[in-house]
Amino acid sequence: MSTSRDINATLVDTAPAVPTNAAARADVPVPKVEPKRTNLFDLERVQLEDFFEQVLGEKRYRAHQVMKWIHHRYVTDFSDMTDLGKALRAKLEQHAHVHAPSVVLDKASEDGTHKWLLGMDAKNAIETVFIPDKGRGTLCVSSQVGCALNCQFCSTATQGFNRNLSTAEIIGQVWIAARHLGNVPHQQRRLTNVVMMGMGEPLANFDNVVRAMSIMRDDLGYGLANKRVTLSTAGMVPQIDKLGELSDVSLAVSLHAANDELRSELVPLNKKYPIEMLMDACVRYALRKPGTSVTFEYTLMKGVNDQPQHARQLVQLMRSFDRSVQMKGAAKVNLIPFNPFPGTRFERPTDQAIRAFQKLLNDTGMIAPVRRTRGDDIDAACGQLKGQVMDRTRRNSEFRRSLGQQERGDAAA
Ligand code: SF4
Repeated sequence: MSTSRDINATLVDTAPAVPTNAAARADVPVPKVEPKRTNLFDLERVQLEDFFEQVLGEKRYRAHQVMKWIHHRYVTDFSDMTDLGKALRAKLEQHAHVHAPSVVLDKASEDGTHKWLLGMDAKNAIETVFIPDKGRGTLCVSSQVGCALNCQFCSTATQGFNRNLSTAEIIGQVWIAARHLGNVPHQQRRLTNVVMMGMGEPLANFDNVVRAMSIMRDDLGYGLANKRVTLSTAGMVPQIDKLGELSDVSLAVSLHAANDELRSELVPLNKKYPIEMLMDACVRYALRKPGTSVTFEYTLMKGVNDQPQHARQLVQLMRSFDRSVQMKGAAKVNLIPFNPFPGTRFERPTDQAIRAFQKLLNDTGMIAPVRRTRGDDIDAACGQLKGQVMDRTRRNSEFRRSLGQQERGDAAA
């Protein structure tokens, strides 16, 4: 978790001072300089308490009231926070704001899947997807605009890396979805799980992601159990260890191949952290707490990694993991049929080939569910997350049109 020292990096700073010679001359208009206000979405509980104490000169518990207003009741206007005194509301107005990303596009699928295209600034947008299922509702959250890791089968990789998302931009995705769903933490849970599996490599944006996940799991935030928040990584080994020291969320690893030659081709990060190093880090993560499992995602691509020998290699690797953590079934495998996107050289295997691969795993006693494709009619399936895409696809023009409308609307407001 972040300590109170982190707050110095996040809290209020002031705008540049007006030159004294200009300020002293009555005939030179002094530009009005607004102090920069802190976006309270950026602060996890301890930081918000520090903010109340150190910046506002208030009791720390006041922070709890504000967290409930923001994350439980979706109120962002301080004047509507009626159990805060007038003076405190005025101070908050002066030093802080609560600013969520803007909704550029909002699409609902026939199967209940919901997708938002969210504008992070004038140039960048990301996607967030909500997937309802029996008894659960999972939100797939992005951590970066684009991604630098260049996995060969990934739609996001085609746009390169733009920037990390701030904590506010990550938790803002949860806030927008939860508000839309009418989610009430601890009472009416519609949003039961969060997976950090959207655009970007979450461990490459470590501090902001860990802080956002802390708000997701905080009772004053979204009150999700540790195991219901899952971080998915392509395999950044040192950061997996660091995550194990700071957090207790579920870990998922994008594996996609069980031998180094193929994996290095599909996931270039494997050249830096090959499978043995990665699996050792996963074992260390699992061993921190008895009963911890790790999920391994395996995207099935026709003729690439869907052959019987690939299944056998995968079984061997998973068995070795189970032995190392001394727990049968500690390695969980999710099979994900590849979802084609424009320009890709990969193909989805036939249903028959997918079933045959799954059977080879099942025959060894391994449970390996095949992930259903959801939200096809709104391009919301995994691997299709793509925000500001610099090509001539329909989505790009749609995005630009929407962003243009949004900007015009903002200007008119
Ligand atoms: S699969 Fe994940 S880590 Fe790899 S390029 Fe895509 S977003 Fe990045």
